[in-house]
Amino acid sequence: MPALANRLKQVEVAASVVMTNKARALRAAGHTVISLAVGEPDFETPPHAIEAAHSAALAGDTHYPPQDGTPALKQAVQRKFKRDNGLDYALDEIMVSNGGKQIIANAFLATIDEGDEIIIPTPYWISYAEQAKLCGGKPVFVACPQNNGFKLRPEDLEAAITPRTKWLVLNSPSNPSGAALSADELRAIGAVVARYPNMWVLSDDMYEHMVYDGFAFSTLAQVAPETRGQVLTVNGASKAYAMTGWRIGFCGGPKALVKAMVNVQGQLSSGVCTVAQAAAAAALDGPQDLVAERAAIYRARRDLVVEMLNQARGIVCHKPEGAFYVYPNVAGCLGKTSAGGRLIETDYDFVLALLEEHHVAAVHGGAYGMSPYMRISYATDTDSLREACARIQAFCAGLT
Ligand code: PLP
Repeated sequence: MPALANRLKQVEVAASVVMTNKARALRAAGHTVISLAVGEPDFETPPHAIEAAHSAALAGDTHYPPQDGTPALKQAVQRKFKRDNGLDYALDEIMVSNGGKQIIANAFLATIDEGDEIIIPTPYWISYAEQAKLCGGKPVFVACPQNNGFKLRPEDLEAAITPRTKWLVLNSPSNPSGAALSADELRAIGAVVARYPNMWVLSDDMYEHMVYDGFAFSTLAQVAPETRGQVLTVNGASKAYAMTGWRIGFCGGPKALVKAMVNVQGQLSSGVCTVAQAAAAAALDGPQDLVAERAAIYRARRDLVVEMLNQARGIVCHKPEGAFYVYPNVAGCLGKTSAGGRLIETDYDFVLALLEEHHVAAVHGGAYGMSPYMRISYATDTDSLREACARIQAFCAGLT
């Protein structure tokens, strides 16, 4: 076979995809599998967004879009940043992409040179590191330990910065830990950022609306305005409006950076599906009640999952501020043998045995750069969550 590119050799398939595929295979073999491996809302896209897409298609909005996004969606994004984040972005500081994922890819492709360093607080969403590597960058992982609520400490950030640092990635609330940074915590990070004007900051706010118990969401450019010229504020429709399939992400940031990113996107995909952009504009401009309603449902699920997991022998589950993930520690289960005779030496062994013996799919912490943990997505109905947690308890009870 003719060769593939060397740059792909270091890039890994996301562990959540691997676990989801294993779960699918077990299901096809007739087992009742509960998957807690996917990071996708189990709700539906709001009907008014679907109707807007339909109307746009019928109205002939079916031609190549502007590379940076349709004016209607960019204006809706501009209003969103103002309304939710108190951020004023001009239209040439905003762009729309095929999901938040392509926003990040555009940003990295537009800025990373071979050997540049990208600081990634750990545990982290897998794609930051893989995309950075695809661009020739070097991920630099900074541990955010459980005893600090999985949050980045300013002193740890500063210690990781070198003359090669190109980006700092912030993701609050976090996938996979659910940890969210308060305004004060962000300000302290902002003070470090401002001392390194050659460093960009990617503020991935994808889980903005999923915060609980009165936690107030903040974003870096808002609370540390002195960093605004370095910050790319990233968000999207996927998680907030249960629109993962529509592939709409957007950002606000310095004009020169956004211009370079639009250039990249122009070569890669020309732009973003027109009818999906119409749907996202309707979601952003439409009634926002469902966002809070769904957050209340997620909060109840989080509480259920945290409580039940903490009753499982050997598991310690931190209660996070946001997102729809928990990141329980499974250290107390290591070195044991499962009822099915599997030796559990790592968090990967744990999730594999759990899937094979009790048919619950989760993702091992190693995939997110911090072990021994697992990531559980609670974007699933309550009955399935209760059953899954009962199975995890039974699995742990069977470890000897
Ligand atoms: N950022 C984080 C932290 C995520 O978890 C995800 C998706 O899982 C994304 C970005 C990308 O979302 P999308 O490309 O669906 O907009």
